[in-house]
Amino acid sequence: MDNICPKCSLPKELCICEEIQKEEAIIKIKIEKRRYGRKVTIIDGLDPDTNFQDLLTKFKSACACGGTIKGKRIELQGDHRRKVRKLLIKWGFPQDNIVLQ
Ligand SMILES: [Zn+2]
Repeated sequence: MDNICPKCSLPKELCICEEIQKEEAIIKIKIEKRRYGRKVTIIDGLDPDTNFQDLLTKFKSACACGGTIKGKRIELQGDHRRKVRKLLIKWGFPQDNIVLQ
């Protein structure tokens, strides 16, 4: 049983699920500086199917900050990189796929 991938039911030596997932879902957390030295935390690289609005709401209440969605990125006011990383891991995002920049 251990040699069968639970996702695609192929033997593990044929399965590429893990590679696909890694390439698709590298989440980047970084800081951008705005006018007057304001810092914004950017969460980029989320799966396009993500419920961005829901995630933003959760980030805003957990970090007690303002935020917005810009395209497929989430922006939070202030520097919340470490907190965001911890939250993503807590919410089930694979730790290896989260990059702090
Ligand atoms: Zn597989």
